Amino acid sequence: MTTFPSTSEPRRSRWQDQLRDAIRDVVELASLLDLPADAIRHADAAADFPLLVPRAFVARMRKGDPRDPLLLQILPTALEAVDVPGYTADPLAEAAHFAEGGLVRKYRGRSLLVTTGACPVHCRYCFRRSFPYSEQVAARGAFEAALAALDADGTEEVILSGGDPLSLSDRKLDALLGRLGALRALKRVRIHTRFPIVLPDRVDAGLIRVLERHPLVRVIVLHSNHPREIDASVAAALAALRATGVQLLNQAVLLAGVNDDADTLAELCERLFDCGVLPYYLHLLDPVAGAAHFDVDASRARALHAELLERLPGYLVPRLVREIPGRASKTPIL
Ligand SMILES: *Cc1c(COP(=O)(O)O)cnc(C)c1O
Ligand code: SF4
Repeated sequence: MTTFPSTSEPRRSRWQDQLRDAIRDVVELASLLDLPADAIRHADAAADFPLLVPRAFVARMRKGDPRDPLLLQILPTALEAVDVPGYTADPLAEAAHFAEGGLVRKYRGRSLLVTTGACPVHCRYCFRRSFPYSEQVAARGAFEAALAALDADGTEEVILSGGDPLSLSDRKLDALLGRLGALRALKRVRIHTRFPIVLPDRVDAGLIRVLERHPLVRVIVLHSNHPREIDASVAAALAALRATGVQLLNQAVLLAGVNDDADTLAELCERLFDCGVLPYYLHLLDPVAGAAHFDVDASRARALHAELLERLPGYLVPRLVREIPGRASKTPIL
């Protein structure tokens, strides 16, 4: 008997299939990349934050290279289990800032809305790796409490964050943006996402239609750490986003072994510019438990940043910042 897709249930998009088909098994990853067995010997260390990486991102990694800068960002290692003083589960003290409905309001005029705990990739250095999402995520219930709070306090900019907000279906995103559009004081919506970098097929006709319907989305802040992350497929996705009129920015995290040299950082900035993206922030690592091996100390970070200032036009130099709990903005490292 032939079965037909039901018309009431939208067909899963290509990107959703790719996400379902993402790599979650270290042995499979090693075999795809021809990695030596000892490269993955301790790679099953973190059961609470398992391997997750789309094949589209793996395709940009170098075969046979356990030090590949893209691989290092996603491969679990035994180093994550090492307890390092000063590295904690909630280094940004976000738990204290969470309001009802997944809102994080730390800075004046802009409010961050945690829309989902889901990400297209698990970045080993992520400060949210051990965050208690299930209790906090707005997408689980209604966004009503968050919307009421945003309207009451006159928020001018809402930042959709997560997790990754583009994990939401187009339908959910469309509905949320529609509701945000009704907030009286709102000037713009910003989206923080890594999807266009790790799974560029997320930028499909459906998403572009949503963005075109909601010109309130003025800024998309991407997250790319290395120039090799941006291949032709990513460049095409970024061009499609830009054609909607949205401003594209990038934040990167300074990561030992991945991008802690001036050549790589300068090349990243140039590559971003070629794709219509301006470098925004270069973050020092947040001291999250399990990520200490990625740390680049502030003095070395300063030296790298100084070199970028000399090598690049000013508009291609990202602001070097760190986040210090309790401050009213990111803190520039000068
Ligand atoms: C980083 C951050 C923002 C955005 O800060 P900008 O400097 O405007 O990019 C807003 N809210 C929270 C909680 C943040 O961590
Ligand atoms: S929130 Fe961003 S940095 Fe963290 S795991 Fe998800 S995609 Fe990676």
